[in-house]
Amino acid sequence: VDAVAEVKQRISLTDFVSRTVKLQKSGRNYRGLCPFHTEKTPSFYVFEDTATWRCFGSCGEGGDIFSFLQKRENMDFREALEVLAREAGVQYSPRTPESLKEEDRLNACLSLAVDFYQENLQKSHGEIAQKYLLKDRGLSQETIDYFKIGWAPDEWRILRNRLKEKGFSDEEGLAVGVLAESDKGGLPYDRFRGRVIFPIHDNRGNLVGLGGRILGDGEPKYLNSPQT
Ligand SMILES: [Zn+2]
Repeated sequence: VDAVAEVKQRISLTDFVSRTVKLQKSGRNYRGLCPFHTEKTPSFYVFEDTATWRCFGSCGEGGDIFSFLQKRENMDFREALEVLAREAGVQYSPRTPESLKEEDRLNACLSLAVDFYQENLQKSHGEIAQKYLLKDRGLSQETIDYFKIGWAPDEWRILRNRLKEKGFSDEEGLAVGVLAESDKGGLPYDRFRGRVIFPIHDNRGNLVGLGGRILGDGEPKYLNSPQT
């Protein structure tokens, strides 16, 4: 959505954060007491150049203006976008699943899965995956964020439930390959469970599928969604 870039251009993250966090200049950046955990020494940074923030203290969270507002107000991305678009005076019409064409719907469905898994990587049950990425694979947090790497919890229908919540059908989840059909005739279930998730792009940069590497002993070690 272009509204995202527009919002970031029009609202300074530093100003936005300053409304609720007292910031002090620190080199080229700003720092203050982290609003997301209790601390006495500031370990929360706002980086002007990239319009991002990060806590180097115990919560270790970071992101952009959207994730800051989401976290502060416990909103989802759509809600944060609505609030910030309004404030920035950015024209933005929320696209509901019903209003999207079929192809757009499938893309939106796949993107939702990527966002969901990215979100889960930041949760406490995602720690095993974070450790794998940061320590074993030696990736930086920036790289992980850039490639939108995520974590699929070891559960049968957690993504399926999220897709339902957001108005996507099982057929759509199956079509983009994030759900799999049960051969015992039960409900479709999450294809990726207990796996680190790597979004797969075609050579034009379009998201076309997901790859998942298992952590632990399961088989196969690498699993890709069938690509269309
Ligand atoms: Zn913190």
